[in-house]
Parts: sequence; C-alpha cells; structure tokens
Amino acid sequence: MFGSGLLKGLGITLKHVRDTFTDDAQKTPSRYEGMVEQAANRRVIKQPLSQEGILTVQYPEEKRLVPERFRYIPMLLFDTETNEDRCTACGICAKVCPPQCIWIVRDMKDGKSIPRPAEFFIDATVCMSCSFCVEFCPFDAIKMNHDYELASFERYPNLVYDKAELTVPLEYYAALWPTQFAAEQKRRAEEAEAERQRAEQKAAADAAKKAAAEAKAAAPAAGAATSGADRAAELKRKAQEAAAARAAAAGGESAAAAEAAGDAIAAAPAAAVDDAEAAAKKARIEEMKRKAQEAAAKRKAEAGE
Ligand code: SF4
Ligand code: SF4
Repeated sequence: MFGSGLLKGLGITLKHVRDTFTDDAQKTPSRYEGMVEQAANRRVIKQPLSQEGILTVQYPEEKRLVPERFRYIPMLLFDTETNEDRCTACGICAKVCPPQCIWIVRDMKDGKSIPRPAEFFIDATVCMSCSFCVEFCPFDAIKMNHDYELASFERYPNLVYDKAELTVPLEYYAALWPTQFAAEQKRRAEEAEAERQRAEQKAAADAAKKAAAEAKAAAPAAGAATSGADRAAELKRKAQEAAAARAAAAGGESAAAAEAAGDAIAAAPAAAVDDAEAAAKKARIEEMKRKAQEAAAKRKAEAGE
C-alpha cells in the first residue's frame, strides 16, 4: 500500500517516544541512576542494551560511553612490556588503506634501514575508519581509537596526526578494548610458547645433525681399514687365480711350484701380498731359466757335440 513504509517508520518513532516516558516513569528519581561515570570533569553516560527509549545526553557536558567495538581514527601501540613501538614500519597498513591516508618513513641506522618507524602519519580528514589497517597489521601495532572529538579549525597540520600524536601506551588500548586485548594477549602467549617449542626442536635437530656430522668425520679411519682389508682379500683372490692359471699352463712341477707360490700368496698376510707376488715372479723366472738350460743341453746332445 502506498505510504505503508512511512507509517511504519513513524510508528517506530512513536514507540521510542512512548518507551522513553515509560522508562522515565519506571526509573525514578533518575533514569540515569547507576549508569553515569565521571571522567575528566564530565559525565559519561552508558546506556545498557536492555534499556528502551531515547536517551538524552546533554552533550558536550555529558557524553555517551561508546561500545568496545566503536572505532574512529587509528592509534599506534607502544608496548610498555618491551619498551618499544610495536610497529616495525613494514608498510602493510599503508598498502591496504583504501583512501591511502597513511604514510610511513622507516628509521635508519648506520645507513641501513631498521624495523622501526621514524615517522608515521595519518590524515584524519581522509581516514574512513574502515579498520583495514588494524585487520592487516601482523604485529598488533595499530588499533582503532575511540576518541572522536577531533574537531579543529585548521585541517593542516591539526588533522594530520604524526607518530607522537598517534602513539598510546598498551594500557590505554587495554582499557578501551578489554575483551579484544585479553583475547590477543592469550593468542600472543600461545604463539610465544609455540615459537619457544619450535626453537627447542630446532636446537635438538641441530645438535643431532652436528653429532651425525662428527660421527661421519670420525668414520673414514675405520672405513679406510675396512677398504684396506677388502683390497688385500681381492689381491689374494687374484693371486690365487693367476697362480692356478700359470699352473694349468706350465703343468707338472712348475704347477706345484706355482700353486705353492699361489698358496703362499693366499696365505700371506695382507701386508705381505706384494712380497709374495715378487717371490712368485722370481720362481717363474727360475723355472724358465731351468727349462731353457734343459732345452740347450738337449740340443747339444742331439747335435753330438
Ligand atoms: S602499523 Fe603494523 S602494518 Fe602498519 S607499518 Fe606498523 S607493523 Fe606494519
Ligand atoms: S581505518 Fe581505514 S582509512 Fe583509516 S587509516 Fe586505517 S585503513 Fe586507512
């Protein structure tokens, strides 16, 4: 029906007006009883979620207590536990800021940049309180402030906040965002514990690696001894095979001599293998000399000399 939305809206407004007076009637003498805190000579009024109706606040003499998740302009945290800025000037917040109202100058030492901001600016007239910078900061270094009373006659420089104006101690943030602060502290403690365990595991792995490297460095002596024994056995086997082959070729006594030589080589200790081979060679030469002499004598006898 035409105008039904308008009537619905008016109905809601009337309901609020009615609730206000009903609530006033119930809460005598003052509907603000127990909801008022005094802060900096000023009444801060908190309206519970259960309360119905319109809450009148005499601003600026009074002001409402904003909920924890209220956000306005970012603030930078100074960690009073470590006495350092949490910000590392990584620049992620400046990159993700949709209206590009953050700019950062990294600090330098001995010509090298260090993970700390020398300058940090936020243009409050451009910031749209989206909280992207907070969501993306990997170091919990930037959070949203509740301070919304920033009116000024001059935009520059009054509303371009520098690092000193943006920085607040950790306790300030803890008071403004108690639930979120507690959850973050718990998460940070768990991460620190996990990091400590990782470091311990890495140290244990490094120690095991070092021990294995030392054991490997000590191993070559034993390995060399083993390979020396293997080589001696191989030489023995070859000498026996060579002796057997010679015996087969020479036959008879030379075979016995060669076999004896081979056996001698085979029986020789690893260190005497070379000597045994030399002895076998000498025996072979002697055998050849003897055969040559016999052949020469035989030829002379045939010739009748
Ligand atoms: S506030 Fe966070 S995201 Fe931004 S520069 Fe500092 S550490 Fe990086
Ligand atoms: S709240 Fe949003 S607009 Fe404001 S500085 Fe952070 S990212 Fe930029």
